[in-house]
Amino acid sequence: MTCTFFGKTDVGMKRNHNEDAFLTDPELGFAVVADGMGGHAAGEVASELAVDRISSFLGQVHGNEDITWPYKYDIAFSLNANKLMVGIKLANDAILSRVAGDSKLNGMGTTIVAALFEGDNATIAHVGDSRAYLYRKNRLSLLTNDHSWVSEQVRRGLITEEQARVHPMKNVVTQALGGAERLSVEIDELPLEPGDLLLLCSDGLNSMVPGDVMEEVFTEYHQNPEELIDRFIHEANERGGDDNITIVVVREEP
Ligand code: CA
Repeated sequence: MTCTFFGKTDVGMKRNHNEDAFLTDPELGFAVVADGMGGHAAGEVASELAVDRISSFLGQVHGNEDITWPYKYDIAFSLNANKLMVGIKLANDAILSRVAGDSKLNGMGTTIVAALFEGDNATIAHVGDSRAYLYRKNRLSLLTNDHSWVSEQVRRGLITEEQARVHPMKNVVTQALGGAERLSVEIDELPLEPGDLLLLCSDGLNSMVPGDVMEEVFTEYHQNPEELIDRFIHEANERGGDDNITIVVVREEP
């Protein structure tokens, strides 16, 4: 089976620049969304740098299993999981060394959600609060746990999902690329079925559009991913568009 890739980013209604970055590469079977943070355009630098570094590493290892890996291969994980974990670590290193060379960029960082597709399988890796969702047979499910303060409060039962969405601390992530040398990259692997749609997004989508509305939009527009993405951006902006909105949709073809 093969996958088809769609993606778009929108500045939203409140910000005057876009700190998100994304990339889809059908040849590598790769998609990524990054949501940068940091003042004076540093967020853009971080998200772009992360996307470039991961994709260049994936390009290097693609069809070339003999290369020397810059980090130890973890045998507890699949080859594709290792590719994403190492790519993300290299992106983290790249951001940290960029900051070390330019104090104006101090404090910049980025979330990341990345997916590799091979055969019928998807491997998803993430750090921070950018998300992956699966739409299968009229049901939408969230595949990732946000690495965020509010999400931890929800997991502990201290606040509800609904309270988390409007909480003053909703933007606080518990880890991001550029934050520290050690990262805990979370991996999820799943077999895909024909017609599945995988969505990667920055929080500019899910912080504005509740999950039940997202599912309704999928139900109405799943036949046409381009229209689906436009509709999601429209829904987020209609609800205030507080943040940059980035969406990638990958369709598993029958
Ligand atoms: Ca954001």
